[in-house]
Amino acid sequence: MNILVINCGSSSLKYQLINSESEEVLAKGLCERIGIDGSCITHQPKGGEKVKTEIAMPTHTQAVAAVIEKLTDEKVGVVKSLAEIDAVGHRIVHGGEKFASSVVIDAEVMKAIEDCNDLAPLHNPANLIGIRVCAELMPGVPQVGVFDTAFHQTMPPKAYMYGIPYGDYEKYHVRKYGFHGTSHRFVSAALSKAMGKDLKDLKIVSCHLGNGSSITAIENGKSIDTSMGFTPLDGVIMGTRSGAIDASAVTYLAKKMNLSPDEMSSYLNKQCGFLGVSDVSSDNREIYAAINNGDEKAQLTADMLRYEIKKYIGSYAAVMNGLDAVIFTGGIGENSWEVRGGVCTNMDYLGIKIDFELNKTIRGTQAKISTPDSKVEVWVIPTNEELLIARDTLAIISK
Ligand code: ADP
Repeated sequence: MNILVINCGSSSLKYQLINSESEEVLAKGLCERIGIDGSCITHQPKGGEKVKTEIAMPTHTQAVAAVIEKLTDEKVGVVKSLAEIDAVGHRIVHGGEKFASSVVIDAEVMKAIEDCNDLAPLHNPANLIGIRVCAELMPGVPQVGVFDTAFHQTMPPKAYMYGIPYGDYEKYHVRKYGFHGTSHRFVSAALSKAMGKDLKDLKIVSCHLGNGSSITAIENGKSIDTSMGFTPLDGVIMGTRSGAIDASAVTYLAKKMNLSPDEMSSYLNKQCGFLGVSDVSSDNREIYAAINNGDEKAQLTADMLRYEIKKYIGSYAAVMNGLDAVIFTGGIGENSWEVRGGVCTNMDYLGIKIDFELNKTIRGTQAKISTPDSKVEVWVIPTNEELLIARDTLAIISK
């Protein structure tokens, strides 16, 4: 079967067509600037070059139409017709407390996703548009929703509650939800396979480190705690997001800088993090380039990230009463030996020892970087959220 995986944002749409038997990516691409002047689609068939085409995309309907056209194009296409697309899997950011697993999308599910719009106002409405347009242009093709938050629905209340009046939690649904669930689920399953052990027998800390970063404690294959919270702002310092900060510091800064709640939210999400502290960049590579030129604030930024990740690993080992493996994934986790090496330095008390020379050689490939005598195994595992969405979609429509 061929599964079209769609990640629909407010002005962009990423796609992959995946063959579910071979798990090969037949084609992938990106529509940019939807609803804005200068919109274009970049399409890449398997084994072929990227082709960028400027196409007017005033709405998402034209974007999905452009994707279908590319996929079925005589030259750069990979299927003969729409009939060869068997199902669509959508990445959906927020499933609130309503979705603990992936589901076939019908009218009731769409309504439930809409009910979560308030919790992810930038993402969920765009995800819904993607679903509606696919239903319009590919009538009869089953669609499945895969939620970033679903994997974390196994967290116990003591982990997800904030210390606010219980009635306010009930009224406003303010609690920890957690994100990157698809990634944490994918890499923990891959780890279990690589270690040849059942997920039920593993206590794992999964570190997804990218522009957005989250760290998850996984016990018996289930998320029991995670660093991101009500929104993806919480947890470790990120590219442009502050990470955890005392709520009173937020109200204090808002008063001092005369910022409205929306302006404060934009400040914390877009002007803080690596960018804000280093004054150099939101990009990990540029932070390390600046460190190599002696930049002290870049050094501080890198030190903060490594220190915070260490704290999460230690606290999650404490709540799980043990630790079998640590996973590094995401753009930084897969590629930055500096971050991995820094986190795993002086961690022998916790039973973590890595091969620092080997660590330096690992970039974007699956590898065990712990030493043979390390009690805890440390792995680099490239994430693949699209593949997990395709797998879920296949499993659900085959039922
Ligand atoms: P997103 O959260 O947007 O999906 P990614 O997972 O792609 O982000 O991660 C982006 C981050 O990964 C950036 O900070 C980037 O500098 C870092 N990164 C990517 N490649 C490398 C590399 N080769 N070495 C170090 N850091 C890298």
